[in-house]
Amino acid sequence: MEQDVVRVVIDWLKESSNIIILTGPELSLESGIPDFADSKFNPNIREFRENPAVREAYWQKIGKLYPVLSQAEPNSAHKAVAELEIICNVDYIFTGSTDGLQQKSGSSSVVELLGSILWVTCPNCGKDYSLEQINTQLQDGKKIPACEECNNDLLKPPISFPGQPLPHWELREAWMKLYNCDLFFIIGAYLDDSPLSSLQTIAAESGSKIAIVNERQSEADNYADAVIYGKPTMVISHIVSQIKKDIKAS
Ligand SMILES: [Zn+2]
Repeated sequence: MEQDVVRVVIDWLKESSNIIILTGPELSLESGIPDFADSKFNPNIREFRENPAVREAYWQKIGKLYPVLSQAEPNSAHKAVAELEIICNVDYIFTGSTDGLQQKSGSSSVVELLGSILWVTCPNCGKDYSLEQINTQLQDGKKIPACEECNNDLLKPPISFPGQPLPHWELREAWMKLYNCDLFFIIGAYLDDSPLSSLQTIAAESGSKIAIVNERQSEADNYADAVIYGKPTMVISHIVSQIKKDIKAS
């Protein structure tokens, strides 16, 4: 962690009046929670719809991960982001995570850009189920969960699988909000691919400062005014404790 850059980012966080934070799956990966929106994790949508074996493999994988997910607690990075919302002028927390851990840490203004793994929808009748209800079906021996209303077995979480467009409405909302921010703070998220890569472009166009905390380099670094390389759990906790010290001293 380069202390000069850290200090600059701390000052921006204290001075900015419309901050938007973007968190990514890297925060949860540090707690052993996989990236459920990763195209490598999910099957192609056409294969999922047409091939029962593909659906069965997907749901068996989710069933195995469910205990880890349901017992997961926010780590120090999630908690530090929640604290930033209280001590700085944070308007929104966008997240590319789908596991709900940022909300569980107490954050209130979370916008899930890529959907959520915690609920599942029937494409036929529109009935929603919690992942817990679906897991009960799996634990009862059902290989592919089915809708209790219409018996359709193409249920899936509202996450884009390969071959599906990303949630359009959420992204549009994000673009609108970015035009009004003066600091876009990206933590543990990699915006290398379209359409998420559009976020840093819009922030840059709107004249907002861009600060990044990531373990490794990414395309977005080219747009950033400051980049801190390090684990989000370490860097954000350090930044928050420093801001709190500054507030106490002033
Ligand atoms: Zn149904």
